[in-house]
Amino acid sequence: MTEQANPNQPVDFIRQIVADNLKNGVNDGQVVTRFPPEPNGYLHIGHAKSICLNFGIAQENAGGRCHLRYDDTNPLKEDMEYINSIEEDVRWLGFQWYDRPYFASEYFEQLYQWAEGLIKGGKAFVCQLSAEEMRAYRGTLTEPGRHSPYRDRPMEESLDLFRRMRKGEFAEGSHVLRAKIDMASPNINMRDPILYRIRHTSHHQTGDAWCIYPTYDYAHPLSDAIEGITHSLCTLEFEDHRPFYDWVLEQTQPKYRPRQIEFARLQLENTVMSKRKLNELVRTGAVAGWDDPRMPTIAGMRRRGYSPAAIREFCRRIGIARSDNRVEMALLEDCVRDDLDRSSRRVLAVLRPLKVILDNVAEDQTIQLEAAYHPKDAGFGSRTVSLTREIWIEQEDFQEVPQPGFKRLIPGGEVRLRHAYVIRCHRVEKDPATGEIIALHATCDLDTLGKNPEGRKVSGVIHWVSASRAMGVEVRLYDRLFS
Ligand code: ATP
Ligand code: MG
Repeated sequence: MTEQANPNQPVDFIRQIVADNLKNGVNDGQVVTRFPPEPNGYLHIGHAKSICLNFGIAQENAGGRCHLRYDDTNPLKEDMEYINSIEEDVRWLGFQWYDRPYFASEYFEQLYQWAEGLIKGGKAFVCQLSAEEMRAYRGTLTEPGRHSPYRDRPMEESLDLFRRMRKGEFAEGSHVLRAKIDMASPNINMRDPILYRIRHTSHHQTGDAWCIYPTYDYAHPLSDAIEGITHSLCTLEFEDHRPFYDWVLEQTQPKYRPRQIEFARLQLENTVMSKRKLNELVRTGAVAGWDDPRMPTIAGMRRRGYSPAAIREFCRRIGIARSDNRVEMALLEDCVRDDLDRSSRRVLAVLRPLKVILDNVAEDQTIQLEAAYHPKDAGFGSRTVSLTREIWIEQEDFQEVPQPGFKRLIPGGEVRLRHAYVIRCHRVEKDPATGEIIALHATCDLDTLGKNPEGRKVSGVIHWVSASRAMGVEVRLYDRLFS
């Protein structure tokens, strides 16, 4: 792991379970977690929560490992571009996966063999109901489902059909392999769920080797078992899938028994987090791409100037719990600000300029001033800034008719130029035709460097740049993606 475990990491209920398991020697005292993205989009800030949790737990425990595993069971929506971006983003966040990236698709043959085993054991059957019929047979939350007419077909027949499904003899949607569990279960996920479906689609990893693909719910527990995962951490919507997760493992009896534990997914105000919706924004051109700085993606936040440390700190502050986790954007921005505050050099820039003419500074005069790069940390060093007769200040730092409590520049008032002197505004020059302010005239009190003028306390400090020495910059201001 590249980053050291954070000693300030609070112990949440999952870390408590892991600690208890370790103490009791469960899983031979091992901790193996996994982060299992589906490569169908870029990672977003919600994934960061899961990444910090899974990789974090592995870091915090001696010998811990975290696997990066692509849950690549649905070739229709997946793409190599996403795989590359996921690896870049995980590394950028400061984490390193164990060994190499794993793919659920590596296990397709083993998963297939286990599926044949289920058929032979009378635990799975090939069903030829249409999707619509299957829905009707499934029942509702209040009504039990009905048995598929294919449920009791002979085992040999299912096995033959399943093998022919694999060979590509059937059309998409014509046959599926289903588990045989309990159509009356109050948990709809246990009503003979689908294990395999036909997709005549090339896969980014396996090419045209397969035309049947396992469902996520079937592939996931088995991938966990194959990799020796001890704690399979997922979001709350998978709670109702847990009985099936355990069923699959029980039936196939692999050596390991990973434990699924659910936590609340992160939801952020003023944005969306579903990859399907984010994909829609990219596809329709509503944003410039997955890494558009307005996007809640890791790549977008990176372009926006957020640091990995700020995002990790955000994940630490929101914590891990089982209750709903809707968080305000302001919390994320606080983390970013705290981080930038500690880590950035400051320079002065004016976004909406208002000209100030310092009448007692000569046209050809340049006053060199030392300006520290950081107000609290001398380690950042300093540079020289030039004060000249004409400077720009921010329009909002001047009020001709001040609101109560306004502490910056007003006609007849004083304010300090950061790193420089106190100035007093003595005249507002306006365009006689439009009445618009053209410039402020001020005098500069050259006796006030680093100290207040005799008997006057100047509380306001504003930023500025020299009109003749400043450089032009392009500034992009981003607001919320959604109101
Ligand atoms: P999406 O709805 O964006 O497609 P997903 O859960 O389908 O999300 P995956 O690529 O399957 O996306 O997610 C990989 C891992 O990240 C999963 O373990 C998932 O639980 C976790 N994850 C995804 N979104 C969030 C979130 N908002 N908060 C916490 N964890 C999340
Ligand atoms: Mg998913």
